[in-house]
Amino acid sequence: MVIIMEKDIQESYIENIIKRLDEEGFSIHRSTGVEHTLLGVIGNTSKLDVRDLKIMPGVADAYRITAPYKLVSREFKSEDTIIKIKDVVIGGEEIVIMAGPCSVESREQVMTIAERVSKAGAKILRGGAFKPRTSPYAFQGMGEEGLKILREAADKFNMLVVTEVMDKDQIELVCKYSDILQIGARNMQNFSFMKALGKTKKPIFLKRGIAATIQEWLMSAEYILSGGNANVIMCERGIRTFETYTRNTLDLSAIPVVQKLSHLPVMADPSHGTGLRSKVLPMARASVAAGADGIMIEVHHDPDHALSDGAQSLYPEQFDELMDQIRVIAKVIGRNIAERRDQ
Ligand code: PEP
Ligand code: MN
Repeated sequence: MVIIMEKDIQESYIENIIKRLDEEGFSIHRSTGVEHTLLGVIGNTSKLDVRDLKIMPGVADAYRITAPYKLVSREFKSEDTIIKIKDVVIGGEEIVIMAGPCSVESREQVMTIAERVSKAGAKILRGGAFKPRTSPYAFQGMGEEGLKILREAADKFNMLVVTEVMDKDQIELVCKYSDILQIGARNMQNFSFMKALGKTKKPIFLKRGIAATIQEWLMSAEYILSGGNANVIMCERGIRTFETYTRNTLDLSAIPVVQKLSHLPVMADPSHGTGLRSKVLPMARASVAAGADGIMIEVHHDPDHALSDGAQSLYPEQFDELMDQIRVIAKVIGRNIAERRDQ
């Protein structure tokens, strides 16, 4: 249920309504917009009569949200969510680029790649220090040492850090070093983890589950928002279909679909979406054309020796080319991408 308060209403009217609903056992999520304050009423609202709410002093309108996800829906909040992290703005006119290796392998590796991608215009450095690997015998990541390396490289090249946190117990540690918490596709439906992420203050980069429908993906975001963290970035990273040529099938139509259903920013990851280096550039172009608010790209200076995902990692020169091409596409659709930093 959503309650829209009248324009420029006195705070005491809002407080009265919150108090009454709180006493009836509902939890209230307040969103203070430019013109109106909205109150999202969460709980078993079937016992509430919309007409009773509509006649309360200060209420402009009240209605039920029909979708199963409430706080993430456009019905609850019609304006786009814009997430500001230091000097980076996600969900605005600029398409923000995240780039870096799949895994943090050494200080030298991360420094080399961070320098290249930041020069090319990437504002956010990616790299896994905790790696969700299909095999328990594969490289599992450098852990805290890797987080320190990411932070050092990002600070040196004036970037933000996004890195994966794999379970509840790692949240505090990863928050110490990272600006954005990446939630992997394999974890998207770990609901106790989603609840714990709702209690953090850091923005969440929520990858779509390998076999998750768009609705299931939005429901996972709903867990995080209902827990108290409104800063969620959705990331389409490919889903498993009957097609085996590519590693996953990058569902680009999910971008405009999520943008219609939700106010949250949506990004795309053509690296995991295709699994093939030669397909990353065309699908990055397509992601930007489809309206993505940002893209995440795996880049490695020596992909043949990468400890994970070498086959889908771009050489730095290919990443330069990708950036040049998507800048042109961004302009056509009225958006922009940061210029190269060394020009
Ligand atoms: C990654 O970004 O390296 C990763 C493991 O992503 P995903 O969870 O989408 O597979
Ligand atoms: Mn990877």
